[in-house]
Amino acid sequence: MRILVTGGAGFIGSALIRYLVREVGVEVLNVDKLTYAGNLASLKDVENAPNYRFFKADICAKPIMTDIFDSFRPDRVMHLAAESHVDRSINAAGTFIETNVVGTFTLLEAARAYWNGLSASARVHFRFVHVSTDEVYGSLGDQDLFHEDTPYDPSSPYSASKAASDHLAIAWQRTYGLPVIVSNCSNNYGPYHFPEKLIPLVILNALEGKPLPVYGKGANIRDWLYVEDHARALHLIAERGRPGEKYNVGGRNEQRNIDVVRRICQIMDAMRPKDGPHEHLITYVDDRPGHDARYAIDATRLETELGWKAQEKFESGIEKTVAWFLENEWWWRPLRKTVYPGERLGLLERR
Ligand code: NAD
Repeated sequence: MRILVTGGAGFIGSALIRYLVREVGVEVLNVDKLTYAGNLASLKDVENAPNYRFFKADICAKPIMTDIFDSFRPDRVMHLAAESHVDRSINAAGTFIETNVVGTFTLLEAARAYWNGLSASARVHFRFVHVSTDEVYGSLGDQDLFHEDTPYDPSSPYSASKAASDHLAIAWQRTYGLPVIVSNCSNNYGPYHFPEKLIPLVILNALEGKPLPVYGKGANIRDWLYVEDHARALHLIAERGRPGEKYNVGGRNEQRNIDVVRRICQIMDAMRPKDGPHEHLITYVDDRPGHDARYAIDATRLETELGWKAQEKFESGIEKTVAWFLENEWWWRPLRKTVYPGERLGLLERR
């Protein structure tokens, strides 16, 4: 079994590759452009494994993608390469359109040409898993959940670009028969999470005694999923999911942002008592434009059809995550020096 993973040097892609290489034992080719968010250090545990290879490339480069399909000859594509940070998309949407929309189109076309040339049995066996987000559904009221048939209603340039890519992926299945499956997952957290995202930013700012930025009143609700649970879900979807279907992935774990930040402060107080208490560092900042109020996933299809269930509870997952960041400064320290030019919060260290 050969699996082509795009974006494997990112947060979720690297968790997926560690799982596929070490626990599933399949052959993996990681194709990644290594943008600011791509980090091969996240794959240190598997870099010398005989069933893992890395190739630096841009998914928008059609001839290179075509060569990769023809030489690696994958049974599966798991497409995670994307620009993924909402704040960056608000400041500069161009790369989001380029990678998320044009890049996905380019990859679908390369996959289609390769798939058309396969034998009949290999064509039936092939899968293209397009990995997407619950943000395509827009904002929820108090009661409802996102179902697979919830209409798309994206609010940010990021979620609009992902929505466009989901439509392309489904259209390639309906029009050309390419065996595409789309997954829409809620917010992930865990080890190797890039320090611009809420949970790692709060852990590291707390560690360094810096302000902990919270948008608006911190009332926005997200449905947090431990990244290793997402990796297992993606593998199941690739192996047992139905082509042409969508699968929502989420841990049934809704939390207000302010509660997540307070919980991290409590864990930091316990793990670093000499530096605490940390809650006074919480700083409310102007709300993000177009900030969706609530996301919450109904994962019933994934649970009943494919037998998936989130294994990590938020309580243990967030403790493991804080502990991981405290123990792995070698990984995050170089990334803290990355200045994000459009940083709206102005709270990251600038060097
Ligand atoms: P990430 O930003 O951490 O990683 C993205 C990876 O894609 C990086 O390694 C980057 O170098 C690579 N990349 C970017 N542009 C590329 C290009 N043109 N060609 C090749 N590689 C390129 O993102 P993530 O958080 O790991 O998310 C992975 C996927 O999962 C994305 O498609 C995202 O939309 C989706 N998703 C993320 C979350 C989340 O909470 N992080 C939730 C649901 C879905």
